[in-house]
Formats: sequence, structure tokens, C-alpha cells
Amino acid sequence: MSLTEITTRIAAAEAAAGRTPGSTTLIAVSKVQPNERVEAVLQEGQRCFGENRVQEAQGKWPGFMESFQGVDLHLIGPLQTNKARAAMELFHAIHSVDRPKLASTLARLAQEIGSCPDIFVQINTGDEGQKAGCPIGEADAFIAECRGLDLPVKGLMCIPPVDEEPSLHFALLAKIAARNGLSGLSMGMSGDFESAIAQGATHIRVGSAIFGARDYGEG
Ligand SMILES: *Cc1c(COP(=O)(O)O)cnc(C)c1O
Repeated sequence: MSLTEITTRIAAAEAAAGRTPGSTTLIAVSKVQPNERVEAVLQEGQRCFGENRVQEAQGKWPGFMESFQGVDLHLIGPLQTNKARAAMELFHAIHSVDRPKLASTLARLAQEIGSCPDIFVQINTGDEGQKAGCPIGEADAFIAECRGLDLPVKGLMCIPPVDEEPSLHFALLAKIAARNGLSGLSMGMSGDFESAIAQGATHIRVGSAIFGARDYGEG
């Protein structure tokens, strides 16, 4: 699918939901994609991109940022505290803040560096054992803790369990955001972004629908 087709579908979903045109930010998820494909999408005018690994992003984005002005880079994957400084130096937003130790590390580094990327708190809306994200029951307290640390919390992020109806998770995330006075909602991927827009997504993270399937190779 082309970038134009995706933006057309976003506009249609916004209209269907009675939302303001352009109120959804498309994050083009470029992880694992070959540089030629990423460059082609940059050439088409897309500037907002998502990566899920700090190291992979460090390898490709400084170069692209020299060639293309105005790139807005979002970290959407898990962040280890020992990579926090590198992440803060490269990314404009971090969508995976999910635990007190990471929050306090980011806050300390923000003091030191003098700036901080936009912060999204990731919620484990399925309360899945192995999965990243703050447990639902700790969400309000953790959001308050992040704010207490002066982190610029813009919203919440979720990745619904693969085998469940995503719209229920989007609705839950929207509810937690609303009761905490947060307007940002990072939710919706290639298979479900229209449903996410219907539930109020402000940031959708779309990879394969734009770039094609990711080729992880033979490993
Ligand atoms: C890879 C990834 C996406 C994009 O997934 P697609 O199904 O390719 O659109 C979105 N969000 C996160 C957190 C991801 O890791």
C-alpha cells in the first residue's frame, strides 16, 4: 500500500468519527526496513517515523536527518535504562515509559541535558504476564509519579494482545487517559488503525501497511 493510500484511509476514518481532519499523527514504523524503502517514504514527504530499537535507529537516522529536514523520530519499543541517554539524544518522543526506574532515570538525564523528549506511558492493557507496559492497576499512580518527576507526559500507549479485539483495549486506554487528563493516545497499527482513530488515537504506529512486510531474514 502506498503512503497516499494510508493517508486517505486516515482522513476517511477521521471523518467517519467526526474528528478534526489532521488530528491523527501517522508514525511510519521503519524498523527492520531496508534503507531504500525508508528513503522512498522520506522522498514522498513523510517526516514522522518510529523505531523500536535504539541501536538500530542510531545506525540509520543520523544520516537521514542530515539529508532530510524536520524528521520527527519516535521510540516505540522497550527501553533499557542503560540506553536511556542515547534514546534521549536521538528521539523526539518515547512511547515505552512503563516503570519507575526508567522514569527516574529519564528525569535525571532531562535535568542534565536540559531537555526531554515527549513522554508516553505504556500501559499493559491486557495485563499480560510477560509483556511490557505498566499494569492497569498501577497506571494512575505511575502517571502521577512521572508528572511528579516533571517528565513531559503527553499521553498513553498500548499494544493490545494479539488474540483479542483491539477496540476494547483502545477504549480502555482512552478511559485511563481521560481520567488522568491526558490527551495523547498512541494506539493502532497496520491492522487496526481505523478502529484506533474511531476511539480517539492521536498517534497511530503503522509499519507493514506502508513499507511492506518486514524481512527478518533467516536469523
Ligand atoms: C512494529 C510495531 C508497530 C507496527 O506494526 P505493523 O503491524 O507493521 O504496522 C507498531 N507498534 C509497535 C510498538 C511496533 O513494535
